[in-house]
Amino acid sequence: MESLYRALPSVDGVLQQVQESDPDLWPHNLMVEAVRQVLERARERITDEGAAPSEEDLVAQARDLLRAWTRPGLRPAINASGVIIHTNLGRAPLSQAALEAVRRVAGGYSNLEFDLPAGRRGSRHVHARELLGRLCGAEAALAVNNNASAVLLVLSTLAAGRQVLVSRSQAVEIGGGFRVPDVMRQSGAELVEVGTTNRTYAGDYTAAVCPETTAVLRVHRSNFALVGFVHDVPLPELVDLAHSRGLYVIDDLGSGALLDTSPFGLAHEPTVQASVEAGADIVCFSGDKLLGGPQAGLIVGRAALIERIEHHPLARAVRLDKMVLAALEATLLHYVHEEAAQEIPIWRMIAQSPEAVRRRAQRWRRWLGKQGVSVQVVPGETAVGGGSLPGQTLPSWVLELEDLPSVEDAARSLRTGEPPVIPRIEGDRLLLDPRTVLPDQESTLLERLLSLLGPAKE
Ligand SMILES: *Cc1c(COP(=O)(O)O)cnc(C)c1O
Repeated sequence: MESLYRALPSVDGVLQQVQESDPDLWPHNLMVEAVRQVLERARERITDEGAAPSEEDLVAQARDLLRAWTRPGLRPAINASGVIIHTNLGRAPLSQAALEAVRRVAGGYSNLEFDLPAGRRGSRHVHARELLGRLCGAEAALAVNNNASAVLLVLSTLAAGRQVLVSRSQAVEIGGGFRVPDVMRQSGAELVEVGTTNRTYAGDYTAAVCPETTAVLRVHRSNFALVGFVHDVPLPELVDLAHSRGLYVIDDLGSGALLDTSPFGLAHEPTVQASVEAGADIVCFSGDKLLGGPQAGLIVGRAALIERIEHHPLARAVRLDKMVLAALEATLLHYVHEEAAQEIPIWRMIAQSPEAVRRRAQRWRRWLGKQGVSVQVVPGETAVGGGSLPGQTLPSWVLELEDLPSVEDAARSLRTGEPPVIPRIEGDRLLLDPRTVLPDQESTLLERLLSLLGPAKE
């Protein structure tokens, strides 16, 4: 073992080879650090296994470390999972116009908080306000960091120290850590559950009203469905009973579509306009779910309430960044121009006919076939995802990879390559859904498939 330790090359020796293999690519200090770590590992390996890596291995390991240290952790990925709004993959891809708007505003100065005619300090809240208000039919609007912060801010402003009624079937957890009882506690409001897990009636709400009650909160069941022996109070009825007792109605729609989903062959997802129309005082929804824009929380409703919410100290803590504001306005403009289904990527994916997806999958199959790789095109389903339309899918066509020695290994290799490709595993099948693959990623995806499955190169 002693001789193995002694045979390890010196730091300088390895360093020189790293430098020669990639001249001028990395700062000297970083290279020294990488080589030290690699040699340290080699010594541990000698202790543990009684074997030393070759000098070639040491150089390769040091270069791998340097590469890992000098690239961003957050990188683009190809979503072939068939989940359109995939929270783990960054939810909604932005439209070209939204990207361009970000670029214009982020690379220079802007009137973010500057009142141009008056020549003095203005408010960043004015930017998306008009557009949002008009699109939703609401008196006023406010955009904040995400929907979780929107709900927290609304409750903190309107209900701290008071009671809020919530149907027991809506005191739920939505995705990564948004739990209605916890958000309520954090806001300083007291949650009063009414009704039962499956059935809640108007009488359950009215029986719970007391002098401390200030609002009724409705929470959309974004990522699960209650079926069977169930009952909810429809929003207009809830509004009537709340307003007749001087209570606010706060509607957390979660995804909150501006377009009706039913013409696309999906169940009806509640629209923001319908909630405002039904008389909800405040409606909250996400910017990066069915709106198809950047991460944001959108609050629309009565002007007097929005004014109070805007001036709560938390509003400053959850305010939007200029890049997000730019992307949000550009996204909203697609709705104003009635071109959302053509311009917003998630809506384009939703709107694509199964036949169009099939033709694309067949094009991929033919291209791969010419390179000697055989795959199948089979019927499949795309999920909308992202806390919207639970259990709802669009009929689709998918690529099935064949004759894989191990589906798990192949999927892992797709995920860990560059760029990462996220496939779907169904039982022992590895599937790729063309619907969620952006057009400009298509050739890269095919190259990655070829290098995974293609005939071994000589
Ligand atoms: C998704 C969702 C949230 C959280 O929204 P984020 O934008 O992810 O913060 C809150 N409430 C409901 C009902 C949701 O669906």
